Amino acid sequence: MNRPLTGELQALDRAHHLHPFTDFKALGEEGSRIITHAEGVYIHDSEGRRILDGMAGLWCVNLGYGRQELVDAATEQMRQLPYYNNFFKTTHEPAVRLAEKLCQLAPDSINRVFFTGSGSEANDTVLRMVRRYWALKDKPHRQIVIARENAYHGSTVAGMSLGGMAPMHAQGGPCVPGIEHIRQPYWFGEGRFGEGRGQSPETFGQACAQALEDKIRELGEDNVAAFIAEPVQGAGGAIIPPESYWPAIKAVLAKYDILLVIDEVICGFGRLGEWFGSQHYALEPDLMPIAKGLSSGYLPIGGVLVGDRVAETLVEEGGEFFHGFTYSGHPTCAAVALKNLELMEQEGVVARVRDELGPYLARRWAELGDHPLVGEARSLGLIGALELVADKSSGERFDKALAAGNLCRDLSFEKGLVMRSVGDTMIISPPLVITREQIDELVALARQALDDTA
Ligand code: PLP
Repeated sequence: MNRPLTGELQALDRAHHLHPFTDFKALGEEGSRIITHAEGVYIHDSEGRRILDGMAGLWCVNLGYGRQELVDAATEQMRQLPYYNNFFKTTHEPAVRLAEKLCQLAPDSINRVFFTGSGSEANDTVLRMVRRYWALKDKPHRQIVIARENAYHGSTVAGMSLGGMAPMHAQGGPCVPGIEHIRQPYWFGEGRFGEGRGQSPETFGQACAQALEDKIRELGEDNVAAFIAEPVQGAGGAIIPPESYWPAIKAVLAKYDILLVIDEVICGFGRLGEWFGSQHYALEPDLMPIAKGLSSGYLPIGGVLVGDRVAETLVEEGGEFFHGFTYSGHPTCAAVALKNLELMEQEGVVARVRDELGPYLARRWAELGDHPLVGEARSLGLIGALELVADKSSGERFDKALAAGNLCRDLSFEKGLVMRSVGDTMIISPPLVITREQIDELVALARQALDDTA
């Protein structure tokens, strides 16, 4: 793309396009980067730069860019049946086949799926389903869902209410009632250099799980419907919980008979080296919202995988569930998602993340921990984070909140690597088809960006 066209697009963008999660005015002054095309793990911009996409788009392009098989699946399905809904008593083959495949891949106790268009819609569906479940069980007072501070569960009103992002809660009116938040198992920020200072990671993990039990007691166990959490918190900063955390959470939920909702929107479809993050942590969720990697982001599709306990009640006792979306189980999106899962299976993508790429990234990424700006370099599977600090021994952050992280992100982009910053935490979540050589390139580019920031 030539420069004049870039300028024209930037002007039109400024005039007419409101970007998600963006300071509209600042964008107007700076102008957007225009992404033109992509292949494999690389995106290209209108300035002629080739950039390693260390974020797989928005944690979603798991199979990488330019997969002709996915294009063909969409084209073929569009020719045959581009759209039809699944309301009432109609269905079509792509939705049925995709539902079957998802239930094969999910933990054994999950045998049904409700489709949505996105992860946010999936979490809206979760909220309605858990409340409906308890109403059908003659426990209508079990309404409250416990979530975690700094969690991200989407941008719809229910999604942002379940999420624990204070700036989101502050905009757009009151949150959905009946949602409570507890602390997050953020070892670096709140354990090692926070109120858990002096504790071991394992003790800290247990204390975070104890917060769930304390909250349940405070609310009254008969008022709590469910606990929702991401296996590894993604948008909150790639927060990998201490090993003690999930077993302790499981024990608390079992003690009080509270439903477990595991948000697999990021961790699902191979990110942690298993089909679902729940499998990595040996969790048996009652509900699993999914999206993103389900179609490798080629078309928008999400859903909720529903465990037998909830599904049997909704099916046998529920009558009509007054809920659904025009694009629930969209045939073209479903056909692409099914092909995406088949390709992942044929190519052994998930096992390669678990056995080869995850361990390799862990080793190479950890090397960045020796950089003067880095307080911690952590990863699991193909998700990782760097904690930027002004002082490594005290964990002190930079004076100006967000300054180092944003600078490092921008510098890495200039040098040819997409990373994301959450405050002063730098995140990567690359396509799962990345090679070892490309991991080397990613680590070298990240180090260069750190050097330039220092
Ligand atoms: N849940 C999690 C864990 C997410 O990371 C996201 C998006 O980043 C969502 C839900 C919302 O998904 P969507 O943006 O498709 O609505």
